[in-house]
Amino acid sequence: MRSGFVFERCIQRKRSMKRTKIKELLNCKEEQESVLVKGWVRTRRDSKGGFSFLEINDGSCLGNIQAIVDHSLNEFQELDKQITTGSCVAITGKLVASEGKGQKMEVQATALEVYGTADAETYPLQKKRHSFEYLREIAHLRPRTNTFGAVMRVRSRLAYAIHQFFNDRGFVYLNTPIVTTSDCEGAGEMFQVTTLDLNNPPKVEGKIDYAQDFFGEKTSLTVSGQLEGEIYAQALSDIYTFGPTFRAENSNTSRHLSEFWMVEPEMAFYDLDDDMDLAEEFIKYLFADVLENCTEDMEFFNQRIDKSTLETLQHIVDNQFERLTYADAIHRLEKSTETFTYSVEWGCALQAEHERYLSEKVFKKPIIVYNYPEKIKSFYMKLNEDGETVRAMDVLIPKLGEIIGGSQREENYDILLKRLKDSGLSPEEYWWYLDLRRFGSAPHSGFGLGFERLVQFVTGMENIRDVIPFPRTPKHARF
Ligand code: ATP
Ligand code: MN
Repeated sequence: MRSGFVFERCIQRKRSMKRTKIKELLNCKEEQESVLVKGWVRTRRDSKGGFSFLEINDGSCLGNIQAIVDHSLNEFQELDKQITTGSCVAITGKLVASEGKGQKMEVQATALEVYGTADAETYPLQKKRHSFEYLREIAHLRPRTNTFGAVMRVRSRLAYAIHQFFNDRGFVYLNTPIVTTSDCEGAGEMFQVTTLDLNNPPKVEGKIDYAQDFFGEKTSLTVSGQLEGEIYAQALSDIYTFGPTFRAENSNTSRHLSEFWMVEPEMAFYDLDDDMDLAEEFIKYLFADVLENCTEDMEFFNQRIDKSTLETLQHIVDNQFERLTYADAIHRLEKSTETFTYSVEWGCALQAEHERYLSEKVFKKPIIVYNYPEKIKSFYMKLNEDGETVRAMDVLIPKLGEIIGGSQREENYDILLKRLKDSGLSPEEYWWYLDLRRFGSAPHSGFGLGFERLVQFVTGMENIRDVIPFPRTPKHARF
């Protein structure tokens, strides 16, 4: 039975021709007697001479392949009306060098099939350009535009490069939980996870009885995998996480998502300088990688989205990041003649406007600000000898502001306990985190990179909602 089945499949394979992706066809050096191309029609143009010119795209690359259909072709009479912008087709034909300008290879159709039609009256992606706002409303169709195809290919390449970077350096890829009980570092407001009946939750003494909830206690979606990452760094030395992260903040900005992906390396025996070195090397590596491996898409962004994209990325790859202390940053902001919405003084958190001003206007390149006041940073960051600042660092880049936040972690049990309490957190809940400082505590550091901010910067896209397939933002979780 089984072998017969396999045999039959072999025969079928032989009969049907293998489809070739458009990227491969466009890069073909030689003409081919017969190829099979499958994809979506971007445009159709008919000539008086009895030919139709179809631009076909299958997402394998930015470029379309042109297919020329002779109107005397048998199937054409029957399928003519079905071949419209947006329809999905399969075309068999001869691959020939194109005579037209800008095309390397084209297909002269010998057979034609329509998989799916797209009514010209109602298909939303007609030829004209659409606004990104409009495209957000049709998240199921926007990947068929040049921009979104390019963004997603670059995003995918960046994810690959991230894994490659860490793998090459002996880091272990670690998956930390998405459902957590700890309010982590208080990094942001959390989304609660519950199966309790919200209309009638069980109560004891007037309070919700989480003992009856699914996990037997209150749980939320993670805001960071860092604390769990630290556990593994203190066993495997170098780890990184790369996963979804959730923040229920009501920040309706072009740089914030409620669900985003974060990359968090955590390294034993790294001090803050080592941490900053790694962050800088990491960013440069990723930028260099896309410049080398996504040339066509990057050219597209440079032409259509932001004319300075390529130059900016190359400049960053070639130059050292500026490193300055928080105190120095405040000093420069106080001295500046720029008017800010938020005034600055030592002790205040830097706002996006300050971060951008420093990197964009003052240094004109990425900067790393370090040694922040202890009061405005998380409890786990290592206290400096001055007792006032912690070994925290933020990488700030032009146009975007913060792309990376990191620190050396406090490895001293007593200091950590005090800072935990001072932050209003309960030591009982963080018993395991404290335990790491009781048993073989190691100096260690790490940072978090917002993956969408990275994609946003690399592509030059203005809004973070346009660099993730399905953005989740306040009042918006469907499509
Ligand atoms: P910001 O001040 O810009 O809101 P943050 O200081 O709250 O960021 P961290 O807690 O340090 O952010 O998180 C680490 C990284 O994750 C940030 O440097 C940023 O790149 C990214 N990030 C943080 N919040 C978001 C968000 N809501 N959407 C997308 N990326 C985010
Ligand atoms: Mn931060």
